[in-house]
Amino acid sequence: MITRFAPSPTGPLHLGHAYSAMLAHDRARAAGGRFLLRIEDTDRARSRPEWEALIFEDLRWLGLDWPEPVLRQSEHGERYAGALARLDALGLIYPCTCSRADIRAALSAPQEGDAPLTYPGTCRHRTMDRAEPGDAIRLNLPLALAHLDGRPLWFQELGGAHAGKHEIPGDPSVWAEGDPVLQRRGTGDFAYLLAAVVDDGYQGITDVIRGLDLFDFTPLQVLLFHLLSLPVPRFYHHRLVRDDQGKRLAKRDDARAIRRYRAEGMTPDALRRLLELPAAI
Ligand code: GLU
Repeated sequence: MITRFAPSPTGPLHLGHAYSAMLAHDRARAAGGRFLLRIEDTDRARSRPEWEALIFEDLRWLGLDWPEPVLRQSEHGERYAGALARLDALGLIYPCTCSRADIRAALSAPQEGDAPLTYPGTCRHRTMDRAEPGDAIRLNLPLALAHLDGRPLWFQELGGAHAGKHEIPGDPSVWAEGDPVLQRRGTGDFAYLLAAVVDDGYQGITDVIRGLDLFDFTPLQVLLFHLLSLPVPRFYHHRLVRDDQGKRLAKRDDARAIRRYRAEGMTPDALRRLLELPAAI
C-alpha cells in the first residue's frame, strides 16, 4: 500500500488536514506500506515557501515521517506537459481563449452565484497546432469518453459515506462543468486535476485518502488515469472535520490551524483524541 498526503502550500494546515495526513499515514503503516508527502504547488501565484515550511513543521510535530526528498510539483512541469502531449497525440485536447466573462455570455441561461460555470464548448473546434501562448488547454470530454470505446469506467471507494463500487456513466452531460481545464489560461499553470493524476501514477499510489470535498473530482480523475494508461488507485474520501457551527474548515480559518494548537500547548496525542483517531502507531 502506498498512500500520500498532498497539500497545497497556500495557507496553514488546519485540523482537517491533520486528520487526512494522519489517516493516510496510519493506514500505510498498519499495512506495512509507505506514506508519501507531495507538495502540490502548481498554483504558482498562491503557493509560498513559508507555507511549505510550516507544512513540514506541522506534520513532523504530529509525529509523521515520510521519505525525502518530497515531490514538489512546481519542479516537474515536463511530466505534466508530457501527459498533455500524450492526450494531444490522441486528439483529445484543444486550446481555449475564453475568459469567465466569455463563458457566462455564451451560456443561454444565467447560472447562479458561485456555482461552477458549465463550459459550452466554444473553442472545441480549435486544434492544438493553432494554440497561442497563454491559451487554456481543455480536455474534449465527449471525444475522451468516446475514445474509451465503451470500456467500463469505475472506481472503488473503500469506506465512509460513499463506500462501494462507483460506475461512471459514459454520457458527457453528467460532468456539470463541461470540458475541464488541464492547463490554465494566462499563467500556464497545470491544473490540480491533471498534476495529481500524473503524480499518483508516477508515485505508484495505491490508495488515495483525502477529504470528501474532493469526491466530485474523482470521476474526471479516473477518466484521466485511463486516458494516460495509468493504474486507477482505490479511493477513500473521509469525513470533513467541521467547526463548532458545523461549517467546513477552510485554510483561512486560522483558529483551527495546527500551529495554533501547537502554540497553545496541545499535544499530538490530544489532537488525535480530538479527531477520534487511534493513538499513534
Ligand atoms: N492539493 C489538494 C488540496 O490541497 C489535495 C489533492 C488530493 O489529495 O488529491 O486540497
